[in-house]
Amino acid sequence: MESVCPVCNCLASYIVKCHSCGNVMKDYGVIQDYFDDYSPYLDRDITERLDGATRNECMHVFFCEICNWDSRIPINRIMM
Ligand SMILES: [Zn+2]
Ligand SMILES: [Zn+2]
Repeated sequence: MESVCPVCNCLASYIVKCHSCGNVMKDYGVIQDYFDDYSPYLDRDITERLDGATRNECMHVFFCEICNWDSRIPINRIMM
């Protein structure tokens, strides 16, 4: 058994609407992708703790292309 993010693994899609305009926000992926540029020596668990997400959550960034507004949404991992 392994905990996986259903969104990262294409098992589910997550629709987030912009608070401001109601546009469906685009999933820009996992927050770790952004950390990777400047924290190459941190392992995944440490990076997740820095961001405030627990091991059971996968932190995604959703972005509204109309408002240039981004939002971090924790996705609950599921056991596979
Ligand atoms: Zn994910
Ligand atoms: Zn918007």
